[in-house]
Amino acid sequence: MDNYELSNKFETLPNCNLSIKTKALFKSLREQPSVNQNNLQTVADAICSDLNVSKTRIIFGGTQSNTTQNGKLKSKTLGVYYVNNANIRVFEFTAMKGKPVAPKTVFDTLLHELCHHFDYKILKLQTTIHSAGFYKRIGYLKSELLS
Ligand SMILES: [Zn+2]
Repeated sequence: MDNYELSNKFETLPNCNLSIKTKALFKSLREQPSVNQNNLQTVADAICSDLNVSKTRIIFGGTQSNTTQNGKLKSKTLGVYYVNNANIRVFEFTAMKGKPVAPKTVFDTLLHELCHHFDYKILKLQTTIHSAGFYKRIGYLKSELLS
């Protein structure tokens, strides 16, 4: 089985036993009108702790980058997972208008980048890729947090 097939195979995260406290924290912070780096770090630490995974440092700042094709938005970079030191960056401002990114989008980005972390630390994949299974794992993590 190659890395894509392996990445695609997992649609959930094993032993995803999130505490009531972590879920409550996630639910309340994403409903706030604004978020800060400390909020993101607190949520990330709580999730990593519940899943028995090494923690990752969250950097919240900077501006999203866009790629365009024929004048139309093609893709947006909302965050980055740095494989070498397991840090995560979540961009704070939108590329087009330079406005603060909405809290729910910020937390969605955090979960996306955490799933890259979990690909290495939980699923032990060789590389982390955007397979269909990867997106299912993000959806699974989010629905578990909101349950
Ligand atoms: Zn990604």
